[in-house]
Amino acid sequence: MQRYPDDALVCGEVARRLLGGHTPIVTRFAPSPTGELHLGHVLHAAWVWGVAEGAGARVIVRMEDHDRARCTPAFERAILRDLAWLGFTTDDPSLASLQEAHSTFRQSNVPEFYQAAFDQLARAGLLYGCTCGRADLPAPGPDGERHYPGTCRGEPIDRPGRTAVRVMLPDHVTAVEDLRLGTLHQHPAREHGDPVIRDAQGQWTYQFCVVVDDLRHGINLIVRGEDILASTGRQLLLGELLGRTTPFVTVHHPLLYAADGTKLSKRDRSETVRALREAGMSAREVVEAGMMDDG
Ligand code: GLU
Ligand code: ZN
Repeated sequence: MQRYPDDALVCGEVARRLLGGHTPIVTRFAPSPTGELHLGHVLHAAWVWGVAEGAGARVIVRMEDHDRARCTPAFERAILRDLAWLGFTTDDPSLASLQEAHSTFRQSNVPEFYQAAFDQLARAGLLYGCTCGRADLPAPGPDGERHYPGTCRGEPIDRPGRTAVRVMLPDHVTAVEDLRLGTLHQHPAREHGDPVIRDAQGQWTYQFCVVVDDLRHGINLIVRGEDILASTGRQLLLGELLGRTTPFVTVHHPLLYAADGTKLSKRDRSETVRALREAGMSAREVVEAGMMDDG
C-alpha cells in the first residue's frame, strides 16, 4: 500500500543528505486539539511520516494546546486514538508521555518554558507592550494578516489595560531552505511587523510557542502545510533571538485538493477520521482518501 506521498519520501532523502551525518534528524507532528482529526490532518500526517521515513528522522508528537479557549483534552484523546488507529506512530517518548496527565510535550503543561523565553527576550530589551486594537491597524494584506507598523515600540510591557506583548524583530530578509519549494525569501519586518508573543488575554501565541518548542525539542526538519508558509521567516528570526545556532529546513506540503484542482470545501476536508471509521472504512482506505489528488 502507498502510505506516503512520493514527494514526501523524495524530500526526506534530500533532508538526509543535507542534515545527516553527525546530527540526529528530528521532525514533529504538532496538532492543535481544537477538533477531531479530519482528512486534511491525514494528508499532513502522511507527509510528516513520509518525510521522516525518507530522512531517517525521529518523529516527535506535540500537543499545541496554547489556545485555552479552543483546545480540549477530549479532542487531544481523540487525536491520539485516531493516529494510533491510522498507524501513524512513533517510539519517541513524546507519544507515551502524552498518555500522562502531565507531559512536557503538551504546551499547556509547561508555561515555565515560555515564561523563561519571554524573560530572556525582556532582559535583552526586545519586548514592548501593545494596546492597539484592530481598528488601530491597517487592513489585512493578501495573506489575511494585518501589518503591524511598530506603533507601540518603546512602551513598557506592563502598561495599564489590555496589553499584548510584541517582540522587536530585526529588519532582515530571511532565507530558509524548503526542500519542496526551494529557498524561501521573506522579509518579516516589512511583511508582518513585530509579532505578538503574549496576547491581551495573557495567552502565549502560536508563533511564540512553536519557536520555543522547536528549539527545546531539537527540531531541524519542519514539515507542515503551505498555509503556514508566511510564518516561517518570523519563526526563524524569533528562534535566532532566542539563541538558535543550528540550521533547520522545511517541507511545506500542498493541502488537500479536489480532482479539479480547487481546494476541497471545508465540509469535505473536515470529514473526520472517526466518521469514516464508523462508516466501515479501513485505516488503509482512510489514509488513501487523505492522499487522493495530492498535489
Ligand atoms: N499546531 C499547528 C496546527 O495545527 C501546526 C504547527 C506548525 O507546524 O507550525 O496548525
Ligand atoms: Zn501597538
